Amino acid sequence: MRDRLLHIFQETYGELSPRSPTPEFTIEFFAFTNINHTIRLRQGKLLVRLSDLLEGAPEPVLRALAHILLAKMYRKPIAPAHATRYRRYVSSHEITRKAHLVRQMRGRKRIASAKGHTYDLEAVFDDLNTRFFHGLLARPRMTWSRDHARNSLGHYDPAHNAIVVSRVFDHPHVPRYAVEYIVYHEMLHLKHPVKLRGSRRCVHSAEFQAEEKLFPHLDKARQFLKQL
Ligand SMILES: [Zn+2]
Repeated sequence: MRDRLLHIFQETYGELSPRSPTPEFTIEFFAFTNINHTIRLRQGKLLVRLSDLLEGAPEPVLRALAHILLAKMYRKPIAPAHATRYRRYVSSHEITRKAHLVRQMRGRKRIASAKGHTYDLEAVFDDLNTRFFHGLLARPRMTWSRDHARNSLGHYDPAHNAIVVSRVFDHPHVPRYAVEYIVYHEMLHLKHPVKLRGSRRCVHSAEFQAEEKLFPHLDKARQFLKQL
């Protein structure tokens, strides 16, 4: 497979630039989340990464892809026949479905679940939302952290719009009010977006702190978290 691919790229290069010597190629399949390919020139060598979803594609499709990548790299016109062949293959039902499945599986691996062994963070969020926020907060992604880090109880990750809670607290010995307090605190961050001051990430304004005091088990929860 690797040899066949190399041939395809070398021949395609020869067709596009008949007068220049063929460079060295490194070609590999790569598990991109989407159907994606990259081509880069590094010290005279061409590094090509193809989505592993194209592994096992018929030769004409691989030729079309080689043509498209090399033409883009060297700013040559892309032959419409190749463009069509590639597009048709990628949008064909099977490949689309496979890409979708792979995306789901890879996505799920990265984003741990909201449902832990003891507590379901989505349920905790919804319940707090009703009790304290008139149900007005839009629920972000709720996830238990992948590791058992103790240095961070929980945090809101704006890049992924996710509230992440340390998995340490997904345990029957941890009272529900402690988990609720961690989530409540992060919900207040949603409600009071941080006005960035320098590089401080976790800013608790006077308003924030006043509202935090409304949490019924505040002292008990803080006590519990401190002893951990
Ligand atoms: Zn905070």
